Amino acid sequence: MAAFAALSVWSSPEVRERLGWYYAVANNFKPAKYLICRRVTAGEELENLGEGELWELHARASEEFAKIFREVKDGGLELGRMEPVKPSLLDLKVALVKKMLRHCNFCRWNCRVDRVAGGKHGTCQLEEESRVSSYFHHRGEELPIRGTKGSGTIFFTSCNMRCAFCQNADISHDKDNGVVFTPQRLAWTMWQLRMEGCHNINLVGGEPTIHLHTIVEAIGLLKFFKTVDSAALEAKADLYLPYKMDVRNASYMGEFNTPILWNSNMYMSQETMTILKELVDIWLPDFKFGNDNCAIWLSRTPWYFETVSKNHKLIYDWGEDIVIRHLIMPGHVQCCTKPVLRWIAENMPDALVNIMDQYHPDCYCSPSDPRFDRRYQSMARYPSQEEIMESYRYAAELGLKFEEITFERSVYGLRI
Ligand code: SF4
Repeated sequence: MAAFAALSVWSSPEVRERLGWYYAVANNFKPAKYLICRRVTAGEELENLGEGELWELHARASEEFAKIFREVKDGGLELGRMEPVKPSLLDLKVALVKKMLRHCNFCRWNCRVDRVAGGKHGTCQLEEESRVSSYFHHRGEELPIRGTKGSGTIFFTSCNMRCAFCQNADISHDKDNGVVFTPQRLAWTMWQLRMEGCHNINLVGGEPTIHLHTIVEAIGLLKFFKTVDSAALEAKADLYLPYKMDVRNASYMGEFNTPILWNSNMYMSQETMTILKELVDIWLPDFKFGNDNCAIWLSRTPWYFETVSKNHKLIYDWGEDIVIRHLIMPGHVQCCTKPVLRWIAENMPDALVNIMDQYHPDCYCSPSDPRFDRRYQSMARYPSQEEIMESYRYAAELGLKFEEITFERSVYGLRI
């Protein structure tokens, strides 16, 4: 942990200030939000309540959470002085996502299918079961995220968007790959990664939103485990590396502690945002398209800009720790990169932004892929250096905070 805290990126006042909560939890100086949720009472037994009544309780419990969170954040309250309660805000969130799964409204598609009963499928094609394609210490994320020992990244299968250039299509287009992960198995996996030194639990896919029920229940089960889940290990991509487990990596006042990182396309419903607000310690959202026509053409996703921008704004207004990712796509600087960056400058002016130059033709956009579709011929190239530089210059003109996060991971090494 000392090596993580000593990374040069933390000497940047902007990064340190904007990711202050995440930094404190990653170093076990502060408890993750889910540990606070366990201390916020939900008020009454939850079993016999309807969904409307559960949401009312949630609104009240969220207000209580906000008070305690502020005190913990400011250093006026040590969480160890408060005992966990039952039922807690965390129990309430588990109860709510189970109800939501019966008429799935996890994301903006709002398919309303009963994923427990099965039979009818929504856009993501999923029923109740969650699968994990792989999990490992990710060394390719932004420096504050990957740190020195990697980001504990868990790749869930399937997606609610259909990007023609998807660079994880083997995971996102094949819902049945990988290993079945129950909430218990997922909790164990999170514990394993954190005990091995990962700085955070990075929930990604595909898309984590469509697995909301499994993830929230797993967070509710987080603790120090004593047994091994050998079936989970089948999905561990770096099993061959000799990571040592150490309780000091994962302990806040004797309790299991880890930052929860939401790595998402942000195409989720307002209900999902409300559930996640008190669980996510750092957001890593993707803001791809600057208009709905490009989102429909390239991702078959309607209502994109309105949905994704609204969710970004919510995070900002809540005062959360966030790094926004934007991928420069070939031929899309005017229609996507510039409008997205402009929107960020107008609505989230001091957020950290990673303007990524790593686009490569893949999936339906790659002529060397059997799935190549000629309609995407214009996407079958890398972004040019002029396009990358134009994007950087525009971000600089807008006054965005992007250099620190962007340049150390850039593929081409371009700078302004
Ligand atoms: S997660 Fe989204 S796409 Fe999947 S069924 Fe639910 S609302 Fe539909």
